[in-house]
Amino acid sequence: MRNHDYDLFVIGAGSGGVRAARMAAGFGARVAIAEDRYMGGTCVNVGCVPKKLYVYASEFGKAFKDARNFGWSSERPGFDWATLRDNKKTEISRLNAIYDSLLAAVQAEVINGRARIIDPHTVAVGEQRYTAEKILVATGGWPHIPEFPGSEHAISSNEVFDLERFPERLAIVGGGYIAVEFAGIFNGLGARVSQLYRGPLFLRGFDADIRAHAAREIRKTGVDLRFEVNVQSIAPGPGGLRVQLTDGSNLEVDVVLYATGRKANLLGLGLENVNVRISDAGAVAVDDQYRTSEPSIFALGDVTGRVELTPVALAEGMSFARRQFGGLENAVDYDFIPTAVFCQPNIGTVGFTEDEARARFGPIRLFKSTFKPMKHTISGRDEKTFMKLIVDQASDRVVGAHMMGPDAGEIMQGIAIAMRAGATKAIFDTTIGIHPTAAEEFVSMREPWSDD
Ligand code: FAD
Ligand code: NDP
Repeated sequence: MRNHDYDLFVIGAGSGGVRAARMAAGFGARVAIAEDRYMGGTCVNVGCVPKKLYVYASEFGKAFKDARNFGWSSERPGFDWATLRDNKKTEISRLNAIYDSLLAAVQAEVINGRARIIDPHTVAVGEQRYTAEKILVATGGWPHIPEFPGSEHAISSNEVFDLERFPERLAIVGGGYIAVEFAGIFNGLGARVSQLYRGPLFLRGFDADIRAHAAREIRKTGVDLRFEVNVQSIAPGPGGLRVQLTDGSNLEVDVVLYATGRKANLLGLGLENVNVRISDAGAVAVDDQYRTSEPSIFALGDVTGRVELTPVALAEGMSFARRQFGGLENAVDYDFIPTAVFCQPNIGTVGFTEDEARARFGPIRLFKSTFKPMKHTISGRDEKTFMKLIVDQASDRVVGAHMMGPDAGEIMQGIAIAMRAGATKAIFDTTIGIHPTAAEEFVSMREPWSDD
């Protein structure tokens, strides 16, 4: 190993790369990590963290209104975009510095610049070349905007956080996580938001009941949510951007946000210099130990195009470092990964959808509950919570849990632990609830809604 400058050269200081670098260094490896944009990667700079801060900001508007029936009165509240944006920037800078110091603490060398693979053991950053026993590609993903007339006028999630001016009128294209979350954010902050999805019902891949409930609830919040429609062209006009839609109608907006998926970030990475296989979807193909088809090169996180979530990239980074530098067998278990969409209210989900469960287990038992959250009995807000449990009839195991309601993301983390432990519906039923909460409904749904 000592023939090389480093034992491990990590390309990309995002969620997966930093975790792998820190753990490998902790096992005694000599580690370098190259980053060309921002320490902490997508999640810290243009993803989970600033997104969640903006979600918090967007919830105040409704909270001010909710407070009135609880006896509070206040002047008409106003919102200042620059204050939010700049306070967000300060917080992200603080986190960037923490990432630097975490890497310094384990003596991992941080190299600023875009890395390019030269051969199976050599990486160049600018004019400088470095050799390493192993190279880890953790370069994440990049927003994908399809090409169409005027597509250069659209922005992606990379730009939306730092807009100079608040977009009073916003069109959002897409029906996945990012589109749904940003529709909630800008609607909550007071913009007029149109969300445009090409298919009959958005949030493909989520449980059908959740998708239908989400469409109803999101429309109630004031988002102009349209299905079976796409953008034909965008052109600048005197009053903003004119967006021509496939149904013949058009929109006049200040900003068009495209949230139409992300692709592996491979630009200029030099993979043509080595024998790394790229999948049909354009991601780096790896096996269950994150090995590419080039024996000294590994890849993990979003660049492998599998589960694009920060906790998954973190788990993969830890598993890689333990195996390669700690001598520990440590496979990531991809079953029952919980996830949340931070729309308003949140969607939280873990396990199988109804369709998937029926296909996999055969007969299933469904439990569903729709109710008004206690807070809104007085606030007057028209919002309904929806919960659903899916139970495999043969084993009584709970194999799917889905919720849209306040704090669904928080609630679902605990449910995921129970489900990974193999909890049966009988266990849910004998668990005492916490009263009064919404979460107690998960242990109180006694009567099946349907039984195959
Ligand atoms: P990244 O975090 O993308 O890191 C890759 C790094 O590599 C980047 O810093 C990049 O600059 C660098 N890089 C790329 N090429 C090179 C090169 N050649 N040389 C040097 N450096 C390079 N996930 C969640 O779990 N929860 C959420 O709430 C959530 N919200 C999100 C919101 C948005 C708007 C987006 C876009 C994503 C969100 N995600 C969320 C997904 C999450 O951010 C990603 O899954 C996660 O960041 C993937 O980590 P990674 O290490 O694979 O890549
Ligand atoms: P998604 O894959 O979730 O959604 C992409 C959306 O764009 C889909 O609705 C898709 O439609 C639509 N679409 C794709 N191509 C086109 C096109 N050419 N024209 C019109 N619509 C199109 O991607 P996102 O960009 O929303 O997010 C990327 C990933 O980041 C997510 O999958 C998730 O893993 C991660 N993420 C996680 C978050 C969280 O954990 N809370 C938050 C944000 C992101 P169709 O369904 O018909 O294919």
